[in-house]
Amino acid sequence: MNNPENRREFIKKAITGGVALASLGCLPLTGINTMLSGVHACQATAFAAHPRGVSGLSSASNTSAKHSLAKRHTEARHYTRLERNRVRCDLCHHRCIIANGDRGFCRVRQNALGRLYSLVYGSVAGIQIDPIEKEPMHHMFPGHHNLCVFTASCNFRCRHCHNWQTSQRGPDEVRPQEFSPREIVNMAKRQGTRSISHSINEPTIFYEYMYDISREAKGQGLYTLFHTNGYMREKPLRELLQHMDGVTVDLKAFTDDFYRQVSSASLEPVLQTLKVIREERVHLEIVYLVIPTLNDDPEEIRNMAEWVRDELGPEIPVHLNRFSPTYKLTTLPPTPVETLEKAAKTARDAGLKFVYVGNVPGHRLNSTFCPGCEERLIHRTHFYVQRKEMKNGRCQSCGYEIYGLWV
Ligand code: SF4
Repeated sequence: MNNPENRREFIKKAITGGVALASLGCLPLTGINTMLSGVHACQATAFAAHPRGVSGLSSASNTSAKHSLAKRHTEARHYTRLERNRVRCDLCHHRCIIANGDRGFCRVRQNALGRLYSLVYGSVAGIQIDPIEKEPMHHMFPGHHNLCVFTASCNFRCRHCHNWQTSQRGPDEVRPQEFSPREIVNMAKRQGTRSISHSINEPTIFYEYMYDISREAKGQGLYTLFHTNGYMREKPLRELLQHMDGVTVDLKAFTDDFYRQVSSASLEPVLQTLKVIREERVHLEIVYLVIPTLNDDPEEIRNMAEWVRDELGPEIPVHLNRFSPTYKLTTLPPTPVETLEKAAKTARDAGLKFVYVGNVPGHRLNSTFCPGCEERLIHRTHFYVQRKEMKNGRCQSCGYEIYGLWV
């Protein structure tokens, strides 16, 4: 397999159905791209030859630039045309006003003569097949495999981003591969995954692609989910949720200061997103990455837990995950396990029924316990389910009904 030719053939067969893709684990397409050359035409690499943003185009080249974009890229949904060929993107709460030739804050939505285009529709930066627990998603078909598709870039600038190699790069800085929504769904079916997710980078920014994949997947009997920072605006969110079974939302902190200083965003829109997901009755789980000194204050954890209990319901799972120094936050230490355990106790004392400690392989609080009788219902080691003691979504000992999708 070390021979590049053998590896190219292996991956080619995997994509076309001959080999279990799951056995590869992670397939970052920045690496797979070379291996797959010749398997799929890569239209986006042609665009990668352009400098970032094309503001300052001469009027003579404006029309051809628009035609060029329209030919190679999909027109965005959820935007408003303004005067002087400007547009306002209505997809996320940044609501970028974008001049002709420029791109939004997320780097992947570009205005060409008053029309907004997605630069990443079908431009896949990576595909992974993992246990669904890796999303993380603990109350949705535990132990099943999930196919995750992602592109480049993001609409946040988190200083602690764990996937910055992909999410903090523009579409011109990765080497994507082209897959239509149907090809993605067919790949998931061939590989036998039960669901398709969008994660790693923020899927809001490739909304159109995610939407079309999810609609196609639902039509073919697959389940769908995405992991988001919660910054999508209400209208596109409600439309998307019609084709979604589950959502994992990062609640990065419970103070606006954190959002502004660490993520270049604000807290309130994320809280609204959480409420909308509940209103639409789509399965919801929350991740709170506990970062030493920045969002680990016990009072902040208690405020967060009480808000979740009161506004969303005590059964919503909350994952208190361990931070590791990375990207621009390398001066802080990893979160002490003791801090996570205290935070978990605080959240449980506030009334939350399913509180997990994540990113600590082997920790007891990565398992699911029955709120009724304290029986361990799902025994996990990191992302792997060792044992399940549930039947039809209920505790086998006391019959307590557990929140989630279990069929
Ligand atoms: S999706 Fe991108 S272009 Fe649209 S408002 Fe958000 S950051 Fe701006």
